[in-house]
Amino acid sequence: MINDSKTGSFLKVWSWPLHWQILTGLIGGLLFGVFLVQVGQAIPEFSPGDFATRWVKPFGVLFVNSLKLIAIPLILASLIKGVSDLQDMSRLSSMGGRTIALYLCTTVVAVCIGLVAVNLIGPGRGLPEDVQAKLLGDQAGVERVAKIAASAEKEQGKGPLQALVDIVPENLVSAASSNSNMLQVIFWAIFFGIAMILAPSEKVAPVKAFFDSLNTIILMMIDIIMWFAPVGVFALMASLIAETSSDWRIFSALAWYSVTVILGLAIVLFGVYPTLVMTLGNLSYMKFLRGMMPAQLLAFTTSSSAATLPVTLECVEKNLGVDPKVASFVLPIGATINMDGTSLYQAVAAVFIAQALGIDLSFYQQLTIVVTATLASIGAAAVPGAGMVMLVVVLEAIGVPQSGLALILAVDRVLDMCRTTVNVTGDAAVATIVGRAVANKPIGEQA
Ligand code: ASP
Repeated sequence: MINDSKTGSFLKVWSWPLHWQILTGLIGGLLFGVFLVQVGQAIPEFSPGDFATRWVKPFGVLFVNSLKLIAIPLILASLIKGVSDLQDMSRLSSMGGRTIALYLCTTVVAVCIGLVAVNLIGPGRGLPEDVQAKLLGDQAGVERVAKIAASAEKEQGKGPLQALVDIVPENLVSAASSNSNMLQVIFWAIFFGIAMILAPSEKVAPVKAFFDSLNTIILMMIDIIMWFAPVGVFALMASLIAETSSDWRIFSALAWYSVTVILGLAIVLFGVYPTLVMTLGNLSYMKFLRGMMPAQLLAFTTSSSAATLPVTLECVEKNLGVDPKVASFVLPIGATINMDGTSLYQAVAAVFIAQALGIDLSFYQQLTIVVTATLASIGAAAVPGAGMVMLVVVLEAIGVPQSGLALILAVDRVLDMCRTTVNVTGDAAVATIVGRAVANKPIGEQA
């Protein structure tokens, strides 16, 4: 597991496997959040949300911030090391081709599963009218929708090739100054790595040694951060429960919608990925899930593929035995452009809103959802709530009013946790398959 072999004695204080530590933090946080809510009900002057925001959440924010702090240097060091280690351009292009093709296929399959589920179950058709009127008329909801629409506006005004132009930064320092520019940093790192492959090896040896060493140090920083994972996860879970307790009644009214999203995600997680990992990756899915558990639990609690990336990388390399050259190339790209869970959610949400508003979608409109949800998930940042911002683009394309977003706001946080878990698992599944294809031998044997 992540925190054994190479870590120093300082980190060995906990001998328990990391996933159990995180799970304990998660369940403990959940129980503590419920306890705070109960106290709030017994003592009216006590606000559980306020207490959690002031005294509990900061520990979770500290933990997530330290993971985010690592993301850009990690991408730079691991990608430059990974690409330059490949030593030849044909391996890089075949790995790149496979990665993009697999990412696209899994996303399209996920959208289709979401569409079939939402059309068969029809959760929007049974939404009680009073609930619908309440959600659409809620002032706070209307304000949040306006904010989301304003963030989405930037994306909508762009030309068809703008996404491509956005990949190439004008300036490395400004690109690296924000985690939302990850794709630009990835581009720069791959470009730098390619130049290292093409340049005479004796001339680039010192730079290569530098990035090798930087990579080792950053991996150690991740190990140190993960030592605090149980506390961070506890704080995030407890504050989530305490802060959202007033939304729980709405949750039951939106139960069918939530069930549809979760069912779709479960089909991807326990149907699509096992098939791919076992057939193309030649790895037992139980082993895969066991190895990925720390990253999945972290994705669930942080709702951010970007914040989880350092841990995903370690899990895939150390627990699944995927070649670091492959993992460091496939995973940062995946965290930014491959979001199977998000695309599935966008398809379900778009059709749900249309059903609730009494809008019949034609076959052509459903096909439009396949294309736009795929592109919207590629464009979504790997941070909490980004999937909902890009959902505006999908709604726009099929002519469903944006105001319908108010219908799904209350449950978005919880569904974000679930879809981020699938997003991260999908990246790891593709890394496993590409790793197997590159090595041309079972993943387990490479470690
Ligand atoms: N939170 C998701 C992620 O980071 C994106 C989203 O669907 O909102 O992968």
